[in-house]
Amino acid sequence: MVAQLSLLAGRKASVPTQCFINNQWVDALDGETFETLNPATGEKIADVSSGKAADVDAAVKAAREAFNTTWGRNSLPDNRSALLHKLADLIERDQQHLGELESVNSGKGMRIARDFDIGDTIGCLRYYAGWAGKVTGETIEVSSKTKMVYTTLDPIGVCGQVIPWNYPIMMWAWKVAPALAAGCTIVMKPSELTPLTALALCDLIVEAGFPPGVVNVVPGYGATAGAAISSHMDIDKVAFTGSVATGRTIMVAAAQSNLKKVTLELGGKSPSIIFPSADLEQAASWSAMGVFYNSGQDCCAGTRLYVHDDIYDEFMSLLVAKAKACAIGDPWDDATSFGPLISAAQRDKVLKYIESGVSEGAKVATGGQKWPESKGFYVEPTILEDCKPHMKVVQEEIFGPVLVVSRFSTEEEVLKLANDSTYGLGAACFTGDAKQAMRVSGELQAGTVWVNLYGLLHSSVPFGGYKHSGIGRELGSAGVHEYCIVKAVQHNISEEMAWPV
Ligand code: NAD
Repeated sequence: MVAQLSLLAGRKASVPTQCFINNQWVDALDGETFETLNPATGEKIADVSSGKAADVDAAVKAAREAFNTTWGRNSLPDNRSALLHKLADLIERDQQHLGELESVNSGKGMRIARDFDIGDTIGCLRYYAGWAGKVTGETIEVSSKTKMVYTTLDPIGVCGQVIPWNYPIMMWAWKVAPALAAGCTIVMKPSELTPLTALALCDLIVEAGFPPGVVNVVPGYGATAGAAISSHMDIDKVAFTGSVATGRTIMVAAAQSNLKKVTLELGGKSPSIIFPSADLEQAASWSAMGVFYNSGQDCCAGTRLYVHDDIYDEFMSLLVAKAKACAIGDPWDDATSFGPLISAAQRDKVLKYIESGVSEGAKVATGGQKWPESKGFYVEPTILEDCKPHMKVVQEEIFGPVLVVSRFSTEEEVLKLANDSTYGLGAACFTGDAKQAMRVSGELQAGTVWVNLYGLLHSSVPFGGYKHSGIGRELGSAGVHEYCIVKAVQHNISEEMAWPV
């Protein structure tokens, strides 16, 4: 089953829409499908197989067989590295096509999808291609004359991976690349809202030469396919990115099934602080990027802004101008940076948050409405001023282009405000004072602190949360270690056991 899609400039493309198990395309066993939409028009793009527990089970069997035969400790690190490089090359070859597919399914600007999301995906695969064979244990001296003690970092096994819709292909890469480098096999469930690039990549998995069963993809809903992954008795680890509520459900399912390892990358309500000594023009640009990039559908978006009293008016007029200059529009247009939100439900949720902020006393500095020029799921870039710590818009993750702004007067006061959150994914401070930057970055409770910039990530830099923002790390050396399990080997060469002890 393939869907015929109209992509940019009337180009027609065939896109696979079934489950991908053991390097084969198969319908869901019960034959059911779900619709996937274009968020910029609200129109249906394709029907996709709706995998459920039985399909997940078939995928796990294939992944286990591969782990025990062609992959895991039965594969050479050099081969895993070469295959990852080959896959990166194929994605680079198809970058335009994949960019269009990502754009039509997620609503993001095609240029952004192609150059940033897919560019970073290629970089991530190449980064982890370099890690295969460099994941090493240690030798430990306990009694060097009689025993050899060492650790190995073994691949953890069959990994379930459940990913969201905000960065479909990048979240695929963040999970697939380190898992394959470590020697794990995969059962992946893309979001039901954005399954198309994860499926298109399966053809490249085959073309690159990965053995059957190493990567399996089961599209479907969270409550069915996702739940089957998190509760499966033969999955050794589940890696998830998405909401806190779903993260909790997955952790419970993991605990109640086989106690599989869980890593979670959840939401955020990340604070940015603007001190008077900052370069205000630059701080406004980074802050606008931090909250409006990807139309605010970003787990580490800088959504709470604290601006010092002394520069408040000057900074806010710069920031409002940046919000008004956001290039929102048709995702096919190369000039477009930010497109619609993912769904009508997400748009309505964001608009409700704006209403709730206003009803609790916030003032709309700009935006606040649906984007009037389209039937897609657009919301204007929005800034709410006069926000107070108790407000829902300050406490909760909105996941849309909405910035909540408050004033502060002292460093001590703003640190309390910034850390007053159940989340701890990102944080930023803008200051021209290096001592202040050091003090403040040390005190901010977040997995990533940016100083005089916002939101930049790199495959080599670990990413993850404090508090309710998650467990474990992705990217960097930490990312590959999350797919390994430590084994200690105590090898006795010449120690003799005197008996009885
Ligand atoms: P979600 O957490 O429900 O969905 C993310 C993924 O989890 C999807 O693949 C989904 O199918 C799957 N899933 C859902 N229920 C599951 C279950 N019981 N077991 C296993 N997998 C399950 O997120 P959502 O409903 O799409 O969005 C809701 C909110 O989550 C958003 O408004 C936003 O606040 C947040 N969110 C955060 C991120 C992030 O990057 N941290 C990404 C997407 C959404």
